[in-house]
Amino acid sequence: MDKFFEQINFPYDSIRKGQDDFIKQVYETIKLKKNILVSAPTGLGKTVSGLAPAIYQAKARGLTTVVLTSRQTQANQVIKTILDIQKKSGKPISYTAFIGKRSMCIHQDRDLYPAQDFNEFCKKARTTGKCGHYINAKNTEHEEQRKSIIDTSIQAGMGVEGFVDLCRVNKPDVKEYPKASKCGFCPYELAGERAFQADVVICDFNYLFQQGIRENFLGKIGRTLEECIVVVDEAHNLPDRIRNAYTFSLSTELLKNALSELKDYVKDSTYDNYIHYLRDTIEEIYFNKGLGDKTEFLITKKEVLDLYNNKLPKNEHIGGVVETLQEVEMRVKEERIISHVGRVAAFLEKWNEIGEEQYLRLLEKNVKHDKTILSLKIKCIDPSEISASVVNKTFSTTLMSATLSPINMYKDILGVGNATTLELDSPFSKKSQLTLVIDDVTTKYSARSIDMYKKIANHITRLLHTTEDKNSIVFFPSYDLMQQVLNHINIVSLNKKVLREQRYMTKDEKERIVDDFKSNSGFSQKAKVLFAITSGSFAEGLDLPSDQLEMVIVVGLPLGVPDNTTNAIIAHYDKKFKKGQLYGYIYPAMSKIIQAGGRCIRTTEDRGVVVLMDNRFYWPMYAQSFPKNWHLQKTKSPEIETSNFFSTKDPMDF
Ligand code: SF4
Repeated sequence: MDKFFEQINFPYDSIRKGQDDFIKQVYETIKLKKNILVSAPTGLGKTVSGLAPAIYQAKARGLTTVVLTSRQTQANQVIKTILDIQKKSGKPISYTAFIGKRSMCIHQDRDLYPAQDFNEFCKKARTTGKCGHYINAKNTEHEEQRKSIIDTSIQAGMGVEGFVDLCRVNKPDVKEYPKASKCGFCPYELAGERAFQADVVICDFNYLFQQGIRENFLGKIGRTLEECIVVVDEAHNLPDRIRNAYTFSLSTELLKNALSELKDYVKDSTYDNYIHYLRDTIEEIYFNKGLGDKTEFLITKKEVLDLYNNKLPKNEHIGGVVETLQEVEMRVKEERIISHVGRVAAFLEKWNEIGEEQYLRLLEKNVKHDKTILSLKIKCIDPSEISASVVNKTFSTTLMSATLSPINMYKDILGVGNATTLELDSPFSKKSQLTLVIDDVTTKYSARSIDMYKKIANHITRLLHTTEDKNSIVFFPSYDLMQQVLNHINIVSLNKKVLREQRYMTKDEKERIVDDFKSNSGFSQKAKVLFAITSGSFAEGLDLPSDQLEMVIVVGLPLGVPDNTTNAIIAHYDKKFKKGQLYGYIYPAMSKIIQAGGRCIRTTEDRGVVVLMDNRFYWPMYAQSFPKNWHLQKTKSPEIETSNFFSTKDPMDF
């Protein structure tokens, strides 16, 4: 192997085609304190290619490598790679992994609080001395024991779950309680202790891209952004993760709760009026605009501020109202975990302070148990200001994904400066994936009909019969369309175990589906077919190598009728880049298609068929988004090509 790869402790015996380029370019980019976006198809060894040069450079410069990933399985993969690099180098690499604080929490009341209330619950438990795990984690008398837990987890190369369990079962070594709490140590706090100036820290995107969390996190790891070499995995998710994190809402329900809180804590009608004025403002806008059948419409920052400020007594303004409500919040929080008044204050503050260009404001109507609930919403449509304020301040950032396509769009919409781009070819043989486009069907709205659903159903049925002994997934653009097509498929005749993604499935239910899909015993000996949604979780992050999955059918494009948000994003990117339709509508949908189809081939040994059912996939605007190794073939009889493909045993003969 090239001396360079030995020097940076590349831990494996061979380097895949394209991987050498990947590693060298990341290495050079870090050396030059620049940023890089890498589109690296599945199978190229993305994790080690991003990590090995980053860890080498960070250790040489006394910096920390921060790896951002949104999935726990990927965090465990990163830990495994670190241990491989450590073994190769013969020198210790200190690391720690954070997943969401709530997921790491071992407090018995954790599940009583939904995700949005968890931080307030934890804060209250810590500040009132009601969390024994926290007390143990902070008690200097247990320093030795904490160190031993941390060392044990590092030596054993534990993933996050193992570490949490270790913290749970280890109780303080004291004979007499309550000298210490008779429970384990808070895993989040111990992970924080382990993170201080660690060589590598693994965490979710939010730790760097959400203000508030970021300051806390950087304090914990004892670094500034300039002292971090950042690797963002699955970076295609970053724009939407930022958009979601910077979306805020205030409903008339919240105002009702705030009023009853004021009744309990203040008993002064002046305070009540601040809430009444806000409710009146929302209702006035709602009635003046005449929402009709619509469930939402656009409003402006000024519209709300003018109406609200006009209702306030002379010399009062929204800034003063926020401060007054925050004082009430402090009083409430002396007794309660959550303050509704505090939430109203936080929203008003955002409404007043957040700029206009990158955000969209809406008034939304929902009907719940025959009651109309109105909400004000602020939605981030352009994440570039937030991402650039982080990425461009780090020592260097590598943004990598198998679907950063087109790569310049991601560079634009994330506002990444001082950056190079790298697009790599797939290491898989051209013959390992057959990609068919069925061009006599479409899910275009104007073409939807019973006949079209029947035609799609017939294609699916014939393909599933042809591949009776093979596991398949069929992705649909929506639940409604899935149902329309399934109405015309005779499920029993498929002779397969049929699994189906349903609306509002829990994480556990989805995990059960994956287990069923992989299972090979009893009734499950039959091949499986899963009907799922292209923009759902089965289309991303599902690893089913070898014969666990051999055919993926993607029906139509997940393009909804553009709503206010999509239209605002399109208009914004039209103004900014003259590419509104592509950046705001077409490419995000194509990214989902590529993710879904990408489930089929996961390793160099895999062979499989991807069938794309929509004639639009052949249109240049869409076709140019597909990875280069997806050699699209138009067909009206996909079952014949599919049968020929699978009947050829040796891929090289095909
Ligand atoms: S301090 Fe730790 S264990 Fe206690 S509530 Fe917070 S996260 Fe949970």
